[in-house]
Amino acid sequence: ATPAAIMVGTGRAAELGVLFRKGEALETLSHVDTVLFDKTGTLTEGRPTLGVVEGPQADLALRLAGALEAASEHPLARAIVAAAQERQLELPSVKDFKAVAGYGIEGCVEGQQVRVGARRFMDRVGIDLGALAERAAALEAEGSTVVFAAADGQVLGLLAIADRIKPEARALVGALRDRGLRVAMVTGDARRTAEAVAASLGIGDIHAEVLPQDKARVVTELQQAGRRVAFVGDGINDAPALAQADVGIALASGTDIAIEAADVTLTHGQLGEVVTALDAARKTLGNIR
Ligand code: ADP
Ligand code: MG
Repeated sequence: ATPAAIMVGTGRAAELGVLFRKGEALETLSHVDTVLFDKTGTLTEGRPTLGVVEGPQADLALRLAGALEAASEHPLARAIVAAAQERQLELPSVKDFKAVAGYGIEGCVEGQQVRVGARRFMDRVGIDLGALAERAAALEAEGSTVVFAAADGQVLGLLAIADRIKPEARALVGALRDRGLRVAMVTGDARRTAEAVAASLGIGDIHAEVLPQDKARVVTELQQAGRRVAFVGDGINDAPALAQADVGIALASGTDIAIEAADVTLTHGQLGEVVTALDAARKTLGNIR
């Protein structure tokens, strides 16, 4: 395409709410064959809410988890704190708070060493989940994210958190597939939860339990397999993957860091605009298939 055509293309895309940082990205996007999505906040609303709390000491689990999560900025933390506040629980203070990225959080509450986080976090510190392991698996198979709360090495309970899938996500996946693209998903969430969400969207290529620092590596691996990859994300965690991708696409509803790392911003924050961006690129480059 001529520079003039690229200018017209990016101009037209901008009118539709799709901002290309450089004309080059329009050209690159027209050649992309794989779209890799972040799950939380991108395919899902990113506004998780707490559902069931179960276990040998469920009430204590929610109170101590609420106390600890008050110091965390994770979306899961907001869901747990909100639920604890709704139930008007008195949240004790926390000492020595520590976040372990991709695993969970820990700290000292009421003289006990409290941990809240993923199954792999509990495994890593040798906490036995007993019957809760199976219960968690069932909740994950429904698409919930399950975290465990433990005190002094004993599990108190599990907390199941659900994050609604965006209503437009399924149609988007279908539209991309209709255009001959491969669709994949990456998340730090547990495999079973990821599989449940992916299955309801018709996504077969799932990269689950990926640590924040490893999301970019998933992009690299696809590229090494010969794919041209667009990555769609919203979070701080996603910045390296957005930068590594052939084309990084950020939702304007996402974090500033994600937007800065991206080549394309969907200014209305609407997931469906991924297709708008793609069609604008293909139309400009004359390779609509
Ligand atoms: P995502 O890519 O889905 O945003 P993260 O890498 O942020 O995931 O977190 C991965 C997993 O680590 C979460 O699904 C959760 O099990 C656990 N985790 C991380 N932070 C917290 C927290 N503050 N409270 C409870 N669990 C957490
Ligand atoms: Mg996200």
